[in-house]
Amino acid sequence: MTPRINLLDFDADQMAAYVAELNEKPFRAKQLMQWIHQRGVSNINEMSDLAKSFRANLIDKAEIAPLPVIKDELANDGTRKWLLDVGAGNAVESVFIPEDDRGTLCISSQAGCAVNCRFCSTGHQGFSRNLTSGEIIGQLWFAEHLLRNEPGAVRRIETYPTPGWEHTGRVISNVVMMGMGEPLLNYDNVVSALRLMLDDRAYGLSRRRVTVSTSGVVPMIDRLAQDCPVALAVSLHAPNDALRDQLVPLNQKYPLRELLAACERYLPFAPRDFLTFEYCMLDGVNDSDVQAKELVRLLANIKCKINLIPFNPFPESGLKRSPPQRVQAFANILLDSGMVATVRKTRGDDIAAACGQLAGDVIDRTRVRERAVHDNEIIQPITWLNRLDD
Ligand code: SAH
Ligand code: SF4
Repeated sequence: MTPRINLLDFDADQMAAYVAELNEKPFRAKQLMQWIHQRGVSNINEMSDLAKSFRANLIDKAEIAPLPVIKDELANDGTRKWLLDVGAGNAVESVFIPEDDRGTLCISSQAGCAVNCRFCSTGHQGFSRNLTSGEIIGQLWFAEHLLRNEPGAVRRIETYPTPGWEHTGRVISNVVMMGMGEPLLNYDNVVSALRLMLDDRAYGLSRRRVTVSTSGVVPMIDRLAQDCPVALAVSLHAPNDALRDQLVPLNQKYPLRELLAACERYLPFAPRDFLTFEYCMLDGVNDSDVQAKELVRLLANIKCKINLIPFNPFPESGLKRSPPQRVQAFANILLDSGMVATVRKTRGDDIAAACGQLAGDVIDRTRVRERAVHDNEIIQPITWLNRLDD
């Protein structure tokens, strides 16, 4: 039996091509998109304005299949985290962060991550596989429709009027690709999912409200500018190559000079006239006054906002969060030099839903644990820190 097609895998063009393949009229593609993405219907029989014969044909060949949920957790501050099964003993996570003026969903793009940043729990688990576009957009599909049907859901109707959403409103107004994985190393599937987020027949989110966060895959930053220029956040974490080589190993391939040049090329395409740089504050590693001044010099000529992220510790990292007064002193140096800098509030701490704590932790991770132990044998955290001080 041929495997069923997952209709979540199709962006608008792909849906149109599929509908044509089934010898149906083009407007059926739009109807299908609206049923699936705007109304959240997964039972094809409920799509009442599709002809019965078309429905029967679809039921035979296709399905709407988001990732199965393994665990659903709610933090004290309202942050909600879902653990999703991606098969073969792996899992990914999505996190919903409610705020007064917005509802943000943090989405994963890969199971694990090959970049292996020193301070990231996802990186420590290694790379398992890319998510399909359906598995990526399925996280938004699932969270939006689940939350919308819950009592007390905050529906955003007036603030974000989008055709198709006038009557229901939506719960999720912003998406950040800041969950597990490096989105630009799963480029095609991520772009296909981004297109659905922006498409008026699907979620109709503004490009300003969809953010791709990257550790700096330079060629793909250029491609994103052409294919789907959403807001860009670049994970910097260090003001020079020597330190960044250690914290973000991808820097050895795409050093700061090349990365910042790519950022400047992206700016004319970006939905706002600035980019965001993320900087995870690691005690004694990248948080000194000298490093703050070096950062000011590095970013002097690029329109940007710097987001300082207090490090979220996890056992294998051997690293510590910078004390709040150090974060503030670092921020003050940036602010005094005229830069725009903010300190990110940590959310969902009690359910390990904060940045970099996402490790899909539940399933048997024996091999991952073995790897983590092995890694520590090669580079004991303390040795590594000493090397950084050199
Ligand atoms: N791979 C992409 C997106 C996922 S990580 C990237 O690296 O940008 C999302 C953000 O969380 C990045 O800025 C990342 O540097 C940060 N992060 C990772 N681990 C962290 C940790 N332990 N504490 C705080 N922030 C972390
Ligand atoms: Fe991958 Fe981003 Fe984690 Fe680095 S910070 S290991 S790029 S998920």
